[in-house]
Order: sequence, then structure tokens, then C-alpha cells
Amino acid sequence: MLMEKERELIAEYGRKMSTDGLSRGTAGNISIYDPALGYMAISPSGLGYFDTEPADVVVCTLDGKVVDGTRKPSSEYGLHAGFYKTKADQGCLSIVHTHSDYATTLACMGEPIRAVHYVIATLGLHEIPVAPYTTFGTPELARLAVETCKEGRAVLLANHGVVTFAPTLAKAYSQAGNIESLAKTQWQCMAAGRMNVLSKEQIDDVLERFKTYGQKPASGGQQNSY
Ligand SMILES: [Zn+2]
Repeated sequence: MLMEKERELIAEYGRKMSTDGLSRGTAGNISIYDPALGYMAISPSGLGYFDTEPADVVVCTLDGKVVDGTRKPSSEYGLHAGFYKTKADQGCLSIVHTHSDYATTLACMGEPIRAVHYVIATLGLHEIPVAPYTTFGTPELARLAVETCKEGRAVLLANHGVVTFAPTLAKAYSQAGNIESLAKTQWQCMAAGRMNVLSKEQIDDVLERFKTYGQKPASGGQQNSY
């Protein structure tokens, strides 16, 4: 089985995404890219995460041609491919796309996630922008998401959800959780009618501090806690 380890991870993190409340039903999708092969492993289209075995995960080219697997790739394979094609220099090797509740709420309001908490720096930026709305699964959505994302590692999709990427699936998944937590905090601040947003300089200081914070991971998959 091609990309066996990656397919196992995608099946495992899919279940995690459901149990952690970041996804319901078949919403959202996960992928890992192998630049040496030029293939990505991606969750299948329309299959519940608890029904997805490693063999159901699809291996395809960045143009969506299936090279191993019997399922159809996620309808958002083009969105994932768009990031792998353009964000390699930002360490884009794994992507998590969710419709998590609070992040999607802000995306539906056209409201970027702001620096209400310093943890936003884990996304490499001080504000998570919102890409304009267009139909799911289209090349236009991939283009708008990639263009709007710029130098950060996350972007909201208007009236849809959120995309985040990292060098490993563990890290991308951790970021998806951080985004949802940030969005919930921001929503609560907005509901209470008061919100103090950190400045770009304050977030730059956090980014500087992250460079020397925590344990050196034994393997690439471990996340520091902040
Ligand atoms: Zn989606």
C-alpha cells in the first residue's frame, strides 16, 4: 500500500477530529504530501471518519489522479493541492481543513480571527484572514484561499470553514485546535462587547520567544505546549 504510514495517520486523526468536536459527519478533510513521490494521501470523499480505514484513504497526484486507493478523493483535493503547489517554502506538508463551530461562525461573519490571545502566534501571524466566498470544491476556492493566506499558516473560508497547514499532521492538527479555541475566545469577547487585541509588535515578540521555548521534540510530530 502506497504511503501506508500517512494513510494510517489520516484515518487516526480523522477519528480524533470527530471525537474532539472539530468535525461532524463527513465535514472537513485531512491530507499529507510527499514531495519526493509528488503524491498526497487525502481522506476519501463522503465517508464518515469512523468508517475510514487506512485503505480507504486515497493517494493521488496534485492534479487529482488517483494512483492508489479505491475511493474518490475528498472533493477538496484541489484546495489541498493548491497549498502544496504554492506553500512548500512555508513548510506545507500536511493540511487540516475543518468546519469547526466557532471558526466557521467568524468566517460566516466575514470576521478575521484577531490577536485576542497570544497563541495566534502558533499560526505564524497576528491575524487569520478570511478568503472570499465561492463554491466548495472549485479551483476558484483553492486560488482565493492560497492568495488570502499569504505568509501565515491558516486562512478562514467565508461561509465555509478553515484551512491550516504545517510540516507534520500532528502540528497541523494542533493548529486546527488552537484556531477553534481562539475563535471561541474572540466570539465570547465580541458577545460581551469588549475585546483587547494584541498589536503586531506584541505578536512578533511572542514569535521571537517561541523560537527558544519548550523541549526539543524527539520526533517532528511532537508539539510544544505554550
Ligand atoms: Zn469544507
